[in-house]
Amino acid sequence: MRTAQIVLPDADGLDAAVALLKADQVCAFPTETVYGLGANALSETAISEVYRLKGRPSWNPLIVHVADADMARTLAATWPDTAAELARRFWPGPLTLVVDRADHVPGFVSAGSPTVAIRVPAHPVALALLEASGLPLAAPSANRSEGLSPTSADHVVRSLPDVPMVLDGGRCQFGLESTVVDVSHGTPRLLRPGALSVADIRAAVGDIDVPEESTPAPGPVLSPGMGKRHYAPRARVVLVPTLDTAALRHLGPQLGILTHLPVNDTINQDTRVELLPADPSGYGTELYAALHRLDESGVHTIAVLTPPDDEDWLAVRDRLGRAVA
Ligand code: AMP
Ligand code: MG
Repeated sequence: MRTAQIVLPDADGLDAAVALLKADQVCAFPTETVYGLGANALSETAISEVYRLKGRPSWNPLIVHVADADMARTLAATWPDTAAELARRFWPGPLTLVVDRADHVPGFVSAGSPTVAIRVPAHPVALALLEASGLPLAAPSANRSEGLSPTSADHVVRSLPDVPMVLDGGRCQFGLESTVVDVSHGTPRLLRPGALSVADIRAAVGDIDVPEESTPAPGPVLSPGMGKRHYAPRARVVLVPTLDTAALRHLGPQLGILTHLPVNDTINQDTRVELLPADPSGYGTELYAALHRLDESGVHTIAVLTPPDDEDWLAVRDRLGRAVA
């Protein structure tokens, strides 16, 4: 049964959200990346509710959202120069920093790791909620574990009908999760590509270690174990090197296409086509919304034209790779 209430983020809405959070309950709210399922990061009751509602495995740590860099430092055991520099350049914004966890920050928010992941979000509603509550808020994407991330309040309710409240901030500006960088020791290391580009980070701090990509193999036959399934729609997702009519026919009926290049007119009239912008940030912004629409239209298979190989497209390739896994 649906109990979720979509609430406007005016003064009353924020008050109600703060009351829930202070009572160790959860509340979904918009960020500039995707909608988050917010909970007091220092409360075990609240954090258990996040894991329960999402069906999230307990080994997967959460990102703690804070109002500013000063508050971030209070959660860290040490605050390296690279953390300070990246925070100064990119916060508020879609960058998460992994640092050593301060002793008073409980391990349940980090799945027991001695580190903690922190960011200052750029969305005005998220910042207002952080300031009004005065709490550090764990806020993983507000969807069932492994499913598509929500980029609108409606997406949240469809994925988590039992969430008590969703603050409605419209559509998310970036539409892809934050970039996660480990700055706890030595050279910064990319843990998850995301809305902030590697090029921007490199320009700010010089070197960054970028692990090799596990490129998903194009074509309908996909070996298992290519990367963990995450960010996935209900439909089967297949990466294709070209949108060749003959090849698409092999993918069967009730086909959807996701592409950044125009398709030719000979494609079957019943095929649902989502044409996304041909630049990586425009594509990233629209990606989840397009996958949500294709899922709702009831297609069985989504053929995705393999995106370009450039570093700029890293985050998009990562998410698509996990959607097919
Ligand atoms: P999300 O599911 O968007 O909340 O993102 C959480 C992701 O952030 C995790 O799946 C990890 O990739 C990363 N993360 C969070 N906390 C840590 C941590 N302490 N160490 C390393 N990665 C982390
Ligand atoms: Mg998520």
